[in-house]
Amino acid sequence: MSSQLHVGPVAVGGGAPISVQSMTTTKTADVDGTLAQMYALAGAGADIVRITCNDIEAAAGLAEIVPRSPVPIIADIHFQHRLALAALEAGVAGLRLNPGNIRNETHIKTVARAAKDAGVPIRVGVNGGSLDKDLLEKHGSATPEALVESALTEIRYLEEVDFTDIKISVKHSHVPSMVNAYRLLAEKVDYPLHLGVTEAGPPPGGLIKSVAGIATLLLEGIGDTIRFSLTADPVEEAKAGRSLLEYLGLRERKGLDLIACPSCGRADVDVIAVAAEAQEKLEAEKLPIQVAVMGCVVNGPGEAREADIGIAAGKGKGHLFIKGQVVRVVPEDEMVDALVEEARKLVEEGFEARLAAADTSAPEIAAMNALQLAADQGDANQTQERRKAVTQRAVEASTS
Ligand code: SF4
Repeated sequence: MSSQLHVGPVAVGGGAPISVQSMTTTKTADVDGTLAQMYALAGAGADIVRITCNDIEAAAGLAEIVPRSPVPIIADIHFQHRLALAALEAGVAGLRLNPGNIRNETHIKTVARAAKDAGVPIRVGVNGGSLDKDLLEKHGSATPEALVESALTEIRYLEEVDFTDIKISVKHSHVPSMVNAYRLLAEKVDYPLHLGVTEAGPPPGGLIKSVAGIATLLLEGIGDTIRFSLTADPVEEAKAGRSLLEYLGLRERKGLDLIACPSCGRADVDVIAVAAEAQEKLEAEKLPIQVAVMGCVVNGPGEAREADIGIAAGKGKGHLFIKGQVVRVVPEDEMVDALVEEARKLVEEGFEARLAAADTSAPEIAAMNALQLAADQGDANQTQERRKAVTQRAVEASTS
């Protein structure tokens, strides 16, 4: 297990819940604009927010932002170590230093001493895209070994002045290199690790790359705090980070988990449209439950029996089920609203109460509808007809 530090009130490492980070995109000197974005990020699931401190106006802005912020702030520092000192003066809860562009040992040690006095941790934030030129030359490119060597050199400087309040990132835009760099690093240090795929790009590619890299490592037990670096509204980063942790079972569910069948020839409704409508209405309710939208009552309630609640369509009806048990049958055009209402009651009253309030005739009606639907549809994918047609074509081709 990694060691633990604190970014303000948020514990990182040492078995603490994995935290979600994001970064503001506003000019830091724009105090109100930056605070508005920070509140949006905190609302979307960010536990910690990083803000650039790239000039003296930004540092002055931080002094006003810090006391009004809903979450702890980390100042992002490149090139000028003096701005790290100014950010500490402004009261930030953490610093991120890029060893690729703050290379002067004396400067690094000066910042470390000031951070120690302030009780503030430092992230050694190595980035494949801005690696120290000497290391690039030595390793030929930004290899996982080069990234780790950069981090270890910086850590040595910090440890030499007795500074150990450290977390580390070795980000790379190439997912396998990122994964290998963190694996290598995790073998060498027990400091908490901040995971991320750098410059992942816009969604959906950026999301896929981030999930691939971050989830792989988290499932191996590597990583203590995460950031999705998306070319998108940072609120999307915070939401994605939070959702990933909830889907992996690493954070308690705060929001909706909508599962839906992929649809197939048996679907008796437009599953994509129904799922989109359900998602929109349920997200507005902010209910922390898992909801299933299934295209047919033949297989839906059974396939989604693990979901807290769900609907399955068929014969012009919506079959509402709780933990796989059908509790009500409603007209198809009312099924999404009925689902939302039942979901609200389920969160308020609990499973036992809602199962006790079930319409006792619903399971029988659902079973009849499922039987009729299966009988009507028969082989919905028309397998036999297709087989016959393919065989016929093959015979014609061989005799022509
Ligand atoms: S629930 Fe029904 S419609 Fe959806 S994939 Fe399963 S069989 Fe097909």
